[in-house]
Amino acid sequence: MTDIKTPTTVNCEVYTCELEDEEATVAFAGKLAKYCDTGLTIYLEGDLGAGKTTFSRGFIQALGHKGKVKSPTYTLVEPYELEDWRVFHFDLYRLSDPEELEFMGIRDYFSPDCICLVEWPDKGEGLLAAADLHIRIEYTSKGRTLTAQAQSDSGAQLLNRLH
Ligand code: ADP
Ligand code: MG
Repeated sequence: MTDIKTPTTVNCEVYTCELEDEEATVAFAGKLAKYCDTGLTIYLEGDLGAGKTTFSRGFIQALGHKGKVKSPTYTLVEPYELEDWRVFHFDLYRLSDPEELEFMGIRDYFSPDCICLVEWPDKGEGLLAAADLHIRIEYTSKGRTLTAQAQSDSGAQLLNRLH
């Protein structure tokens, strides 16, 4: 398993790290998940194949989910009832009409005791809860660069725990 590299940027609002392979992304997501002590909404941004679902898998499995984490591309959302948390993993890539989100009662998902991970949040603009963290994963020649940006006090507190 790959070690998590020392962050290249250190301050409480933004955290950046290099993730050289899939295992590093899973490990980082797991670490972040373990530091969560409040309901949160995390937006996951980045191109197709960047690693948003890989991140979500690491996060959800670190919170105790034993099985697979399938991409919610067709279902829009996959729920996980875990020991300490209810986690909802969204992938809005295929959302054609934002009204679909209204039909599924999107607002009810973003309750204070839930952690919501949202891939392609732009597609649900205006209908989703505001994010506590924006996580962007970008391709690099050596793997991926992940940038986490706090959007709330809870998000900033979580990033601070990583240092
Ligand atoms: P997304 O959900 O962003 O479309 P996925 O997580 O489904 O992306 O897929 C990421 C793909 O890239 C996987 O095949 C994974 O093995 C590969 N990969 C290579 N390097 C990394 C890395 N550092 N982090 C995450 N995935 C990586
Ligand atoms: Mg995905």
